[in-house]
Amino acid sequence: MDLATPLEQIFTKLQPRQKSALKHLGLKTAEDLLRHFPYRYENPADLVRISEVITGEKVRIWGRVQKIDFEKTWKKKMNIAYATAEDATGRIKMVWFRQPYIARMLPVGSCAIFSGTVAVRKDEYYIANPLYDIVPCSVVPSFSKEDSSRLQPLYSSSAGISSLWISKAVAKILALIKADEFLPAEIIEKYHLPPLSSALRWAHIPKTEEHANAAKKRFAFEGVFLIQLMRASQKEEIKKKSGIKLSNIEEHCAEFLKLLPFELTGGQKRAIEEIVSDLKSGHPMNRLLEGDVGSGKTAVAACAAFIVAKNGLQAAYMAPTEILACQHFETFSKVLGKANIKIGLLTSGFSEKFPSKIAKEKSTHVSKTQLLKWVREGEFPILIGTHSLIEKKVEFKNLALAMVDEQHRFGVAQRGKLSDKGGTTHKEIGAPMPHFLSMTATPIPRTLALTIYADLDLSVISEMPLGRVPIETKIVPPKDRNLAYEFIRTRLVAGEQAFVICPRIEPSEPSPDGFSQADMKSVKEEHKKLKEKIFPEFEIALMHGKLTPKEKDETMKNFRENKAQVLVSTSVVEVGVDVPNATIMMIEGAERFGLAQLHQFRGRVGRSDKKSYCFVLPSSYSADIFRRLKALTEAKTGFELAEYDLEFRGAGELSGRKQSGLSDIGMEALKNLKMVEAARAEAKTIIESKTLPQYPLLEEKIKQLQSEPLHFE
Ligand code: ADP
Ligand code: MG
Repeated sequence: MDLATPLEQIFTKLQPRQKSALKHLGLKTAEDLLRHFPYRYENPADLVRISEVITGEKVRIWGRVQKIDFEKTWKKKMNIAYATAEDATGRIKMVWFRQPYIARMLPVGSCAIFSGTVAVRKDEYYIANPLYDIVPCSVVPSFSKEDSSRLQPLYSSSAGISSLWISKAVAKILALIKADEFLPAEIIEKYHLPPLSSALRWAHIPKTEEHANAAKKRFAFEGVFLIQLMRASQKEEIKKKSGIKLSNIEEHCAEFLKLLPFELTGGQKRAIEEIVSDLKSGHPMNRLLEGDVGSGKTAVAACAAFIVAKNGLQAAYMAPTEILACQHFETFSKVLGKANIKIGLLTSGFSEKFPSKIAKEKSTHVSKTQLLKWVREGEFPILIGTHSLIEKKVEFKNLALAMVDEQHRFGVAQRGKLSDKGGTTHKEIGAPMPHFLSMTATPIPRTLALTIYADLDLSVISEMPLGRVPIETKIVPPKDRNLAYEFIRTRLVAGEQAFVICPRIEPSEPSPDGFSQADMKSVKEEHKKLKEKIFPEFEIALMHGKLTPKEKDETMKNFRENKAQVLVSTSVVEVGVDVPNATIMMIEGAERFGLAQLHQFRGRVGRSDKKSYCFVLPSSYSADIFRRLKALTEAKTGFELAEYDLEFRGAGELSGRKQSGLSDIGMEALKNLKMVEAARAEAKTIIESKTLPQYPLLEEKIKQLQSEPLHFE
């Protein structure tokens, strides 16, 4: 047995429920489980006795479940679960709303550590919606500081697999398997890292906090080091390949600039220069264009696509949502149409071509089969679309440029698939690889960008187009809601438009975390309210993910053409949507969204020279929520917010996480800049001195990582 042995082979008596839980947690092999680190260690000394809880205090208690009860409120049909937990000193009641599965997770007799805020009702203490970690009943905390040395690991678990199960399983594997060190000995020594086998033991069964921390440090270093090594060696590989040749690049670029209705900003020009020099280098371009929301990345993409089209080759542009793909199709048609360039649109709901035969400045529907045939024959130099572009049946005649917008919404594999469409004529081995350009507004701190995108060259647009007025962001307390509406009315009367964002579609939709959310706004309710009561004199449109593609497109068109003045929407308009006439962004239930997401919403306005406003309306308040939203009002750029997020919530919350390929511990490590720099420097040295083959185990590890699809979605 070794690290690669499947868990099902080690634990032969797994029930179907456990199997699916393991799958859900992404745990297949012994190594996966060993690298499923505890997210926290419970120190029994930090627990509070039940007899000593105080109203309003946040506590963690140990308790044995005595009783479980259920109730369904008849009015709202809401499930309520009650449990009573007991320790040696007393009992306390716990209440969960909309979590009917609690009884299965916490059977009578089981023990857990509960955490939450203590409240009082009818002279009785209780905790509402406590979080819980199931622990072995045999380890009853003694509450005396002296024998609290044993730290208890807590793992993120899933229905079917408890934290306790994981801790037992890990112990079994640690006893059976020997893990070979793959980090170079010099590095282990230089940075005082524990070797792999000790680090694994210390991460899972730490005797002291120091051990747990040393293990954390090692895995964090390792994470950054490996990812950097892997991406940097990918970059070296790409540099060796030959790129698709393009000619008259500068002339086409100049011609493109004349098509634009505006003058480019310095940042846009610089990005285009960098792209031009990539295209001339003889090697494939592999570039990430980073620029805050509204900085004008689309124009840069259009320039690259134009150069390729003028060379008689093809460019593909993939966006994460249908709404955005349609918008790009319109923008490209408007700008590049003037130079008689044909453009196709392909999403699950649409297949269109521009221009239409009859009306030169319009697009028209074509059958998917016909569009695909034209693309295969090279008839369409530019194809814009969603994930549909990477479906098998899409083939290009000569794809020379693959572009991905809002690339943080895609996984690494999906991005790669677009480049792999390198055209039927380029399939031979050694054939040149298409140029690749991806775009993101997701502001991530520089260290994070340099680490997880070490395979890409970076272009940054750091300024906004001229004439933009800073957006004013305000947290609106409930009592001022009507003031906000009256203010919005003045803007609507002036001919401007507003977005209203709500966290959900339906009024009664339960959220996955099961928390009570009676106050959470839904688009349907809000739409009705605004239409009938607040703004009856205006046209109010409704947008959400369950509309058909046609409905979505029509709604967006109406809004873009100011046929509707207010758009009530879910987060489907989060990225990319560009309606410069909209100057108000009102966000309901704002605490439900992450900071990066809120910043994206805010970026939907402030896209013209008119002053724009972002109103943030939380549906509940806490010091934490307030601090977070305050950060939004104070930070003007996404980068400031990203640094804030990193500081206060940990890198795990950043949107870069899913696609980064870094473990939670690795992400956590990014807070420690010195360590990240050290790990990056060591990786760079190995790549530049080409000494990787001197470390066979490390080389093998890198190969293994490269062949593994990353976890995403
Ligand atoms: P993002 O970087 O968020 O993708 P877009 O490309 O959607 O931004 O551009 C935002 C808006 O700014 C669009 O309406 C676009 O037409 C406009 N724009 C882009 N570049 C300039 C510029 N240099 N001058 C004026 N307006 C610009
Ligand atoms: Mg964009």
